[in-house]
Amino acid sequence: MAYDNDNIFAKILRGEIPNATVYEDESVLAFNDIAPKTPVHVLVIPKRPYVDMDDFSVNGAPEEIGNFFAKVGEIARSLGLHEGGYRVVSNNGANAGQIVPHFHVHIMGGQKIREGSMARGME
Ligand code: 5GP
Repeated sequence: MAYDNDNIFAKILRGEIPNATVYEDESVLAFNDIAPKTPVHVLVIPKRPYVDMDDFSVNGAPEEIGNFFAKVGEIARSLGLHEGGYRVVSNNGANAGQIVPHFHVHIMGGQKIREGSMARGME
């Protein structure tokens, strides 16, 4: 699937739509999910245009991929989530119900997440 420059996270990256930024550097942006499913629900995205996890894993440079996931852990820790635990999820494609076609990871925490509940959290 080709990357859609008009997806909502591309617009956030271009500053066309506001976001509640949690962390930003030259390659990564993290911001609060607009519809949080847990008390802490942060989305982490690479700034480069990848459609999904598959695209990122195939086309991202190993250093870029490693840096991204290191940042996910650092962000979770900076939010204090390492104390009580947290969930990291990435929905990839149709079967997973991915809505926004810019690769992203959900960090969810701040409460006990029900056994077996998925990325959309508490459904
Ligand atoms: P997924 O693609 O993994 O299913 O989830 C996309 C996530 O993006 C959802 O949890 C949804 O609430 C969130 N989302 C959709 N549009 C916006 C937006 O404009 N701003 C923010 N901050 N989050 C959004």
